[in-house]
Amino acid sequence: MHEFTPHSTPKETGWIEVIAGCMFSGKTEELIRRLRRANIAKLNVKIFKPKIDVRYSTSDIVSHSEQSLPSILVESANEILDHAKNAQVIGIDEAQFFNNELIEVCNKLANEGRRVIVAGLDQDYRGIPFEPIPQLLAVAEYITKTLAICVVCGNPADRTQRKIVSSERVLVGASDSYEARCRKCHYIPE
Ligand code: ZN
Repeated sequence: MHEFTPHSTPKETGWIEVIAGCMFSGKTEELIRRLRRANIAKLNVKIFKPKIDVRYSTSDIVSHSEQSLPSILVESANEILDHAKNAQVIGIDEAQFFNNELIEVCNKLANEGRRVIVAGLDQDYRGIPFEPIPQLLAVAEYITKTLAICVVCGNPADRTQRKIVSSERVLVGASDSYEARCRKCHYIPE
């Protein structure tokens, strides 16, 4: 995984960092790592996730390796603005579950001088770009693409393989219905 290493930390301005990748690629772990460091630096940190994601815990962000941080559940991206008033660093997990309103919200926060760190799936189970992540990648200053390991061939994996047949774009809380696959081994179940 790439480290977030800007050549110099931006001064007197906000910015957007996006951590994007498939399931099991360590997005949330990386988000938690950056937010912990911000906490240690005594910055005011607020963490958000969409109410749709209720696996493991209702109020923490939790990675597959069970690292966790307390977070605020919100129904819409605009609600983040209400809760983030004094926050210097804003973390947003499972960002693919927000709609495109999130792009404007992240830009607004960054324009106000805040550091915004967004983690989310960049492709759905078919390999189709999963908005609003592609748009956020375009407006972000710093991008990290996390890769998993293909369970079939061991190559670096950037696709999420759905192991059951369903045309729903999102199957919440069904992480055992997915695995990481590379481009060569990924297919659309039907
Ligand atoms: Zn493979």
